[in-house]
Amino acid sequence: SIDFKWIRDNKEAVADNIANRNSNANLELVLELYDRLLDLQKEVERLRAERNAVANKMKGKLEPSERQKLIEEGKNLKEALATLEEDLLTLTDELQQEAQCIPNMTHPDVPIGGEDASTLRKMVGEPPKFNFPIKDHVQLGKDLDLFDFDAAAEVSGSKFYYLKNEAVMLEMGLINWAVGEVMKRGFTPLTTPEIVRSAVVEKCGFQPRGANTQVYSIEGSDQCLIGTAEIPVGGIHMDSILPESSLPLKYVAVSHCFRTEAGAAGTATRGLYRVHQFSKVEMFVLCRPEDSDAFHKELIEIEESLFSSLGLHFKTLDMASEDLGAPAYRKFDVEAWMPGLDRYGEISSASNCTDYQSRRLGIRFRPESLSPSPASPKKKGKGNSAPTQFVHTLNATACAVPRMIICLLENYQQEDGTVVIPEVLKPFMGGVNLISYK
Ligand code: AMP
Repeated sequence: SIDFKWIRDNKEAVADNIANRNSNANLELVLELYDRLLDLQKEVERLRAERNAVANKMKGKLEPSERQKLIEEGKNLKEALATLEEDLLTLTDELQQEAQCIPNMTHPDVPIGGEDASTLRKMVGEPPKFNFPIKDHVQLGKDLDLFDFDAAAEVSGSKFYYLKNEAVMLEMGLINWAVGEVMKRGFTPLTTPEIVRSAVVEKCGFQPRGANTQVYSIEGSDQCLIGTAEIPVGGIHMDSILPESSLPLKYVAVSHCFRTEAGAAGTATRGLYRVHQFSKVEMFVLCRPEDSDAFHKELIEIEESLFSSLGLHFKTLDMASEDLGAPAYRKFDVEAWMPGLDRYGEISSASNCTDYQSRRLGIRFRPESLSPSPASPKKKGKGNSAPTQFVHTLNATACAVPRMIICLLENYQQEDGTVVIPEVLKPFMGGVNLISYK
């Protein structure tokens, strides 16, 4: 449930935040709809009370003419109520729709502005030096028979691909390695449904409809393909109250991701960089509000340690306000050096969504008072009566396979055109230590 009262009471801060994030949310309209909703709710309550009063009067002894009058009155009230209740539903829908666009508030340390305003958090390693002319991953894939973009274009469309030979082992090896590494840090592994209800997509802060939607909808149903495992994992605990002792819940999920990439025309799309379907290992945490900043740090540190152990050169950025998307309160991106493409490319991102998703998904916890006071001992069987709070949710990429394949091929190419496999991945490669000519 979105806290409209809070939004109204903090109108100026919310308006500033919308401006800082260059969001197209319409705050005035949301507040106007909210006021109309409150008025309508009052009117509905008034009519319900009147209807109950009439029903009570009917219980007493009455003259036939008086009874007839009351029956008439009751009927009119019932009809008026039915109309108003329908209006209430329509207005609630409209309000929710508009309010979806209002972004989360922003961490005070987030730099304000567009992409260029993002600040450097950390720089790890150095770009590798090559003393031979290097190839990009598309050329390496062609020479070493690792991909088939042409057949995929015929079978599926542009921006699809077949992986072949060692590239298949790389995909599976990367997934196994990443899941194992994150499990070692206490995360529960999951695979997830990859088709979900549109309502869940919306509650996670994504727009399943509209001209520029990133989401593939399934015709004739209320379902979509997932763009990230964050959606089905966020949905696991929706509409529930978790015991505080169960927090934090830490998941590492493997799924395919499907994205329309609408609006991405003109951006770097060579080879595997921006595709419609890819595999991803995603971390997801549900925790107490006071712990979310610390978990955000933990998630980015896990990412940094994973990419370091693959020997990549990368930088970590504190993303600027206009680059956060609606759900994130703060976002750290990792950009790795891709020598063949001759630039840094985003390989992962870690977001603290605070209570943005949990409010919409209805995920609460009940704080456990450590020592119930003797004056008000816990009622037997009734449990704790402390008010519930919304959990905070965080998500972070452990391994987005295609961009990781780009990094590995381009960074580990050798003069003879073969590609070595980094040590940490070798145990997961089914015996492949080197990608060579066929
Ligand atoms: P996001 O969930 O948008 O933060 O994306 C997580 C990661 O997935 C990004 O950092 C990229 O590494 C990767 N990624 C996102 N979109 C694509 C795409 N269309 N094709 C390939 N990889 C992608």
